[in-house]
Amino acid sequence: MRMRFKFMADLARYMSRQKRAGHKYFPIVLMLEPLHACNLACVGCGRIVEYKDTIRDQMPLEEALGAAREADAPIVAVCGGEPLMYKHIVPLTRGLIDQGRHTMICTNAILLERFIRQVPPSPYLSFNIHLDGMRETHDRVVDRDGVFDTCIKMIKLLKEKGYWVQTNTTIYRETTADEIEEMVKLLTSLKVDGMMITPGYHYQVLTNDIYLKADEMPYKFMRVKKLADDYKIINTPIYLEYLTGERDLLCSPWTTVTRNPRGWKGPCYLITNGHYKTFKEMHEATDWEYYRTKQDIRCRDCKLHSGFDGTVALEFGKNLKDTWKMVRYYVS
Ligand code: SF4
Repeated sequence: MRMRFKFMADLARYMSRQKRAGHKYFPIVLMLEPLHACNLACVGCGRIVEYKDTIRDQMPLEEALGAAREADAPIVAVCGGEPLMYKHIVPLTRGLIDQGRHTMICTNAILLERFIRQVPPSPYLSFNIHLDGMRETHDRVVDRDGVFDTCIKMIKLLKEKGYWVQTNTTIYRETTADEIEEMVKLLTSLKVDGMMITPGYHYQVLTNDIYLKADEMPYKFMRVKKLADDYKIINTPIYLEYLTGERDLLCSPWTTVTRNPRGWKGPCYLITNGHYKTFKEMHEATDWEYYRTKQDIRCRDCKLHSGFDGTVALEFGKNLKDTWKMVRYYVS
C-alpha cells in the first residue's frame, strides 16, 4: 500500500463526517510553521525571503497546539523553516500525536538524529524528507555539500528504527527525467514508504528562473506518471494527470491551511493577502469561490500539490471511474 491503512481510514471517516454535516470549505491538512528560521538557504525557498523580518520568531508551544485544535484538521504537516530547530519540537510532536492528528515532520534531515532519540515511532508520526534529486543536484539546490549524504544516512536510520518515511522532491527546470528515475530507484532500495514529486512553485516573492514553465511540465511528469505504475509515488493519479496536461482541475486552497508566527496565512500556502488572528477570520476574509476557479492572476501557472490534490480528495466518490482508479492505485 502507498499509505498507511490507519491514515486512509481516519481520513475517509473525517471526510464523510464533514460531508454529512454539510460543510463545504473544511481543512484536511494544517501546514504548521512554528518558525521560519532554517539551517539551510535553498534556492527555491520563498519562506526565508517572505518572512525575513520575522525570521527569528518562534510560536509559543500553546499557540502551536492551539492552532491545531482551531483548524481541527486530521493531518498536521510541521514545516517552516526547519521544524527541528523549533525549541518546542519534541513537546509539540507529542502534543499533536496526543490530539490524534497524523503528524508529518517536513525536514531537511540535518537535526534528525537528536530528535528521534526523544520521540519513538507512532502510527500517527511520519517524516517527510526533502530531497530534490541525486547528490549533485540536491547539494546545489540546498547550497551545501554533504546534505544529500546526510539525507540518505538518516533515511536508512529511520527505517532501521521503524519510522514511516516519505520523501518530498521538487522538480526544477534543470532536473532531468533520467535523474528522477535514478532517485526513485535509489529511494525504493532504501525502502522509503512513499515519494511525493511535484513541480517547483513560483513564490510571489521570488524572481529567479528555476521553475518549470507550463510547456515543460508534461514531459517530465509523463515519466513520473509512468514510474508511479511500479514505484511508491504518492501523488494521486488524478493530480498526475493534471501535471501531464491530460485533464484540468479546479483548486481547493481551503483544504490546506497555513498557520505561522504571524497568524493564519490566506488565501493559500503559496500566495499571501494577509495574516489573520484566528482561523475564522481568515475564512471569513477569503472568497473561496474566486480562488477555487483560479481567477486570480497569481493562480495562472499554479499546479501546487496542496490546492489540487485537495480537489481530488473532495471529488473522491463522485465519479466511478476515477474512484476505482484511486482505490486501485493506493492499494497497489
Ligand atoms: S491556484 Fe495556486 S495560487 Fe491559486 S489559490 Fe490555488 S494554490 Fe493558491
